[in-house]
Amino acid sequence: MDAPTLQRWVETISLRDFGKPFRHHAQFNSRLRTTGGRYFLSDHRIEISPRHLQILGREIMDRIIRHELCHYHLHIEGKGYHHRDADFKDLLARVGGLRHTPPLPGIKSKRKGARYVLTCQNCGQEAFRQRKMDPNRYRCGACHGPLSLREI
Ligand SMILES: [Zn+2]
Ligand SMILES: [Zn+2]
Repeated sequence: MDAPTLQRWVETISLRDFGKPFRHHAQFNSRLRTTGGRYFLSDHRIEISPRHLQILGREIMDRIIRHELCHYHLHIEGKGYHHRDADFKDLLARVGGLRHTPPLPGIKSKRKGARYVLTCQNCGQEAFRQRKMDPNRYRCGACHGPLSLREI
């Protein structure tokens, strides 16, 4: 699938399931490993893992895109866009989005012993960590973007 097709696909899902347009960029990012998709707060773009699309297929990816569009629309509308928020849970259930990306068969999405993943807010690069750390004290090794930490 090429980039314009992915862009149109996300726009189509947004209109079909949310009744609202997706006005930002959707693109592939082969650096994503633990998730099939990611929404970026900084510029409202959505990135999709080409490997996940290839292995999981279009039907599963459609539901992953619905998940990312829940973050997108709620964030833009100033509502609760975090996984823990009631707004997010309600909307995700209503549109039938996937809660978690299924692990890819035969591909390690989690490094042995790792309990945390550091994610760059700018380029999506992921790094696994065994110990909890303060992401604000570090920058992305690839692009110097800001990092976030979550438990896996
Ligand atoms: Zn999410
Ligand atoms: Zn980065």
